[in-house]
Amino acid sequence: MAGAEIIGKEEIKEVMDVLETGVLFRYGFDNERKGIFKVREFEEAFAKYCGAGYALGVSSGSAALKVALTAMDVAPGDEVIVPAFTFVATYEAVLEAGAIPVMADIDGSLNLDPDDIEAKITPFTKAVIPVHMCGAPARIDKIVEVAKKNNLMVLEDNAQGCGGTYKGKYLGTFGDMGIFSFDYVKTITTGEGGMVVTDNIDLYSRSDWYHDHGHDHNPNVGRAMEGRSLLGFNFRMGELQGAVGLAQLRRLDYVIAEQRKNKAVIKEALSKVDGLKFRDIPDPDGDSATFLGFNLPDAGVTKKIQKALGDEGIDTVLFKENLWHYVPNWEHLLSQSTANSKKYPFTNPMYKGKADYSRASIPHAEDILGRTLFMQIFVNMSKEKMKSIIDGIEKVSKIL
Ligand SMILES: *Cc1c(COP(=O)(O)O)cnc(C)c1O
Repeated sequence: MAGAEIIGKEEIKEVMDVLETGVLFRYGFDNERKGIFKVREFEEAFAKYCGAGYALGVSSGSAALKVALTAMDVAPGDEVIVPAFTFVATYEAVLEAGAIPVMADIDGSLNLDPDDIEAKITPFTKAVIPVHMCGAPARIDKIVEVAKKNNLMVLEDNAQGCGGTYKGKYLGTFGDMGIFSFDYVKTITTGEGGMVVTDNIDLYSRSDWYHDHGHDHNPNVGRAMEGRSLLGFNFRMGELQGAVGLAQLRRLDYVIAEQRKNKAVIKEALSKVDGLKFRDIPDPDGDSATFLGFNLPDAGVTKKIQKALGDEGIDTVLFKENLWHYVPNWEHLLSQSTANSKKYPFTNPMYKGKADYSRASIPHAEDILGRTLFMQIFVNMSKEKMKSIIDGIEKVSKIL
């Protein structure tokens, strides 16, 4: 829950600045807004924070994916390689762009396996989307290397890893483009919202135009007179969201520091459980610590431990059985149950490939996700709460 747990005075002050002018729109109204540009300020602060050349605020993380894919010219007929373990939005965004998501396996980091990318490449592959799931980095340097070697673009879905790093560089800034989500359960929140980042001025400009009906945002003319070079849509962020985002961003380091502290204490308790191994995190110093993942020797023991932890009031997620984060469980994707009656883009005649969503094509995910449990880490975990978790783990460790 992270940022949502600490909404308070700072957010209220930022939002009041906007409400006092009454200008809820990020563009125009220059006389009425009294110099207040919260979305613009949020973008500038966000780009500076993560060391990106450009940042564009948008209406959601899903919108950010759609905008970035469109800027990268991912289009009908194309394929995009996406890990089997991710939130459904990553797949939906590829389909929204008219392209086809191709499922790839994960490695011990539980993120996209760089060694499976080449096996999934076809003549139609245009891009790859590594996802930093549950706040911890993928082997992003290796992924970018394999992608470059094969002439593929990289879009990092960093919806879950805001503030995380890999070897000192912020997640989301390794690929051609990166995206973030600020929905209510993400590391920082604006209620609904997202960010697109890139160092490439062309990709930024195309994103900027596309997300606002093609407006070129020429500073020298009024909004009504702005030029346009492409057809776009509306994925704009509003001033109230920008205001909340500014306040949340200032406390992102605090959120991560508290999560790391709490995670370390629980990890210490879990390390005494026989046969338990922690999720392999390629750079532990860069973990945003929103989740604690651990593996057990087999699926049977995993279920037994999950049940025992549950009896002690400790909730865990077994993602292999989760309905929203593991591709083989998405009956609507498997049956091509699109919102349109034509099953587009699966039926697009420009698409010559054949995507494989079978469990057999992702053997490592099938094995490891069936014996991995995740605990959510919060910013606010009272002494009593921590004690009850630690006592519970100790009890459970005895049943093994
Ligand atoms: C949350 C999430 C998204 C989508 O973000 P929204 O802001 O909820 O639209 C995309 N990808 C991943 C991995 C996510 O967890």
